[in-house]
Amino acid sequence: MDWDAFAKLGAQMAEWGADYHRTLADRPVRAPLTPGAVAAKFPATPPEKGEGMDGILAELDEKVVPGLTHWQHPRFFAYFPSNATPPSMLADFAASILAQQCMLWQTSPAGTEIETLMMDWLRQGLGLSEGFKGVIQDSASSATLAAVLVMRERALEWQGNKQGLSGQQRLRIYASDEVHTSVDRAIWIAGVGAENLVRIPTQGPTRGMDPVALKAAIAADRAAGYLPAGVVACIGGTGTGACDDLTAVLQVAQDEGLYSHVDAAWAGAAMICPEFRSLWTGIEMADSLVLNPHKWMGVQFDFSAHFLKDPEPLVKTLAIQPEYLRTHGKDGFVNYSEWSIPLGRRFRALKMWFVLRAYGLEGLREVMRDHVRWCQELAAELGADPRFEIVTEPVLALFTVALKGADDAAMIDYVNRVNEDGRIYVTQGRTKGRIVMRFTVGSFACTAEDVRLGGDVLKEMAG
Ligand SMILES: *Cc1c(COP(=O)(O)O)cnc(C)c1O
Repeated sequence: MDWDAFAKLGAQMAEWGADYHRTLADRPVRAPLTPGAVAAKFPATPPEKGEGMDGILAELDEKVVPGLTHWQHPRFFAYFPSNATPPSMLADFAASILAQQCMLWQTSPAGTEIETLMMDWLRQGLGLSEGFKGVIQDSASSATLAAVLVMRERALEWQGNKQGLSGQQRLRIYASDEVHTSVDRAIWIAGVGAENLVRIPTQGPTRGMDPVALKAAIAADRAAGYLPAGVVACIGGTGTGACDDLTAVLQVAQDEGLYSHVDAAWAGAAMICPEFRSLWTGIEMADSLVLNPHKWMGVQFDFSAHFLKDPEPLVKTLAIQPEYLRTHGKDGFVNYSEWSIPLGRRFRALKMWFVLRAYGLEGLREVMRDHVRWCQELAAELGADPRFEIVTEPVLALFTVALKGADDAAMIDYVNRVNEDGRIYVTQGRTKGRIVMRFTVGSFACTAEDVRLGGDVLKEMAG
């Protein structure tokens, strides 16, 4: 492909993309579930001879688009959002064109320095103190794994990477049962073992872990010969938006000398709005925290913001410095591959720059404030309808709801009917021992009208 053809197809691609988004609201949100239907449109064997790119956009429309669940749809109320705003799409295109490999300062001075700067802009936007240093990770899962590895190495006095875990004292890590499954997986992968993830009971309307129970569990483990290593707290848990009381929980971690990590993957982005920050009061005591601008800030996947009070323990855990990766004579420059598990790194900082430049913090705040308000209005409306029961009240823009008197099977059936209708898309969840419907507002394309329509669909399907 020559560059003239690239320029032409690139312009056509942009037009095709704008058309896709202009017509998105008219499509069913979730793809029809017929396994194998997409793959059947492709030949089973790879082309021997190049076919060129003629007709590729038509093929995208014909073979790919019908099999999509439309994450950018204005009435996507499922999971958590995964917003891609137009500026972030353009930035991702630019990053693909420049195709930087940002593993060391030397391999991309601009990639590295803009990453440092963008993470500092974000830090300021979130109201975090200057002490926090940021790095972009590919996902919250990776950030949490990195934090758990730090917990392990720090507790083992940096001997785990060297000697392995057999023969070491058994580590313990503490979390509530509201944390995301990425915490479980981090525990498995780090070799800590699922049995050593100690679940602390939750309490109160915010479903946060009981700090007294946390302290008692740590003491009991020490007495039993275990080695407590860290605490993973959550703000805006995936199921129902559960929030730990960070002031109390992080104080226990600090008193006990344990490393702390806060998973605020979804809710963290909303902390750019000062009025929501009471949700994470105490965050300044965290050693490590992660939030996903790729969920609710319009900076498309992948972009996880991992902040560290002191990057040293992370670098001490993850840095490999073979001779060929050393930046001779340039010591003092940040090499972000030493802060993350993959060595190679894309130029992700461009996305944050484009988005902040286009929207400004104030523009982003307006979007999130609307989502929160519309979501809370809908929860109040459904709560007043005798057919519905709000199971967990809104945390920012997430609530869970059930049909009154419906058992689990009836709820699953209800959620399926809502999704098969196609006008909206929601997910089911389990809380307080029962199946509920999760409803979260977060698409940047969403309007008040879309949320109203969402409510209409829920009522219509409730019969
Ligand atoms: C979405 C989510 C994650 C996982 O995020 P990835 O970036 O996909 O790894 C982790 N924790 C919480 C609370 C989440 O909502």
